[in-house]
Amino acid sequence: MKALVFHGPGSREWEDVPEPTLEAPTDIIIRVDATTICGSDLHILKGDVPAVRPGTILGHEAVGTVTEIGEAVTTVAVGDRVLVSCITSCGRCEQCKAARYGLCTGGGGWILGHLIDGVQAEYARIPFADTSVYKVPSALTDEQVLFLADILPTSFEVGVLNGHVKPGDTVAVIGAGPVGLAAVLTASLFTPSQIIAIDLDQTRLARAIECGASEGLALTGEAARERVLELTDGVGVDVAIEAVGVPETFELCTDIVRPGGHVANVGVHGKPATLHLERLWIKGVTITTGLVDTSSTPRLMNLVSAGKLDPLVFVTHRFPLEEAEQAYDAFSAAPETGAFKVVLEGAKHLQLVPVGAAADMGEDAS
Ligand code: NAD
Ligand code: ZN
Repeated sequence: MKALVFHGPGSREWEDVPEPTLEAPTDIIIRVDATTICGSDLHILKGDVPAVRPGTILGHEAVGTVTEIGEAVTTVAVGDRVLVSCITSCGRCEQCKAARYGLCTGGGGWILGHLIDGVQAEYARIPFADTSVYKVPSALTDEQVLFLADILPTSFEVGVLNGHVKPGDTVAVIGAGPVGLAAVLTASLFTPSQIIAIDLDQTRLARAIECGASEGLALTGEAARERVLELTDGVGVDVAIEAVGVPETFELCTDIVRPGGHVANVGVHGKPATLHLERLWIKGVTITTGLVDTSSTPRLMNLVSAGKLDPLVFVTHRFPLEEAEQAYDAFSAAPETGAFKVVLEGAKHLQLVPVGAAADMGEDAS
């Protein structure tokens, strides 16, 4: 079969690889019907995530059809269409029992396309299937559920829920990339009185406004702080959601949060940021951080089914899976291509039989 393989910083290729096989009784194999590329995949390609070994298949978000199940798997069957989440859960460790799947200590967490082969491939092995995949209702398309694999639960859990967004709140979302936009969409579920989106990219701000932001500010630093204070009667926002991952935007969040408010950091940071405790100690603010758990995925899927959340707003580009390299080119040149999220459409003509069984029958399943 073919897959998108990481070959060290700056290098990736769509190439022939061995078909995945069941390695544990709790595994399943899926045929990948839709997958996408994440900002984290670009971080891996830049060499920012050294845990990813050269030779690893990238990708941690997919919708697929089950082709094979391990003997201990009881809740999914061959032929089921499932959402594969960026977080795998062993379901048995203390963290998983507390629904903190992102912190799983039993072999799960963010493993796909990171510590083990991922899903930007024709077929993929998914560990701990019973506790890690979600059956997709037949009324929903692959694209409608694909972004429930990462950006929607990320912004909802680590941004909106950690930030305790409540009806009537004023919310600032710093960063209007896919995660920031998902924060705008999922914060809107709580009917805040204002959502102020802040980004340097006007196209992205326009998209945030289309998706429910009341204001889009192409400002940074002191200018951004002043404008946010003007918009909030001089007190600042109830909730500031950081969705960029650089020191400047985290520090901006702590500057614009009102006394008693919440700063919810979602961005992945590579450098230290300054925490101005000399100003913050008296303000009674709560600062939260975290990796997504994807514990909210079923709830978000219900909202999509009910027509109250529309993930199609993220999609700007579609490619057949075998054009994964062109998809990476478009996604990584977002300022020029206008790419926001790209969908890679799997080859549904690939046989829906266990990969190994097809080989046994002398058929070509790849
Ligand atoms: P992205 O790079 O597509 O978007 C970031 C946005 O920030 C861009 O639109 C960019 O124009 C804007 N930006 C850059 N510098 C800025 C500045 N100084 N002021 C204002 N805006 C600025 O990234 P994304 O995919 O939307 O992800 C956002 C962050 O969330 C990343 O750091 C990503 O790694 C992180 N993330 C965290 C988790 C988690 O579990 N905590 C999961 C997924 C992603
Ligand atoms: Zn676990």
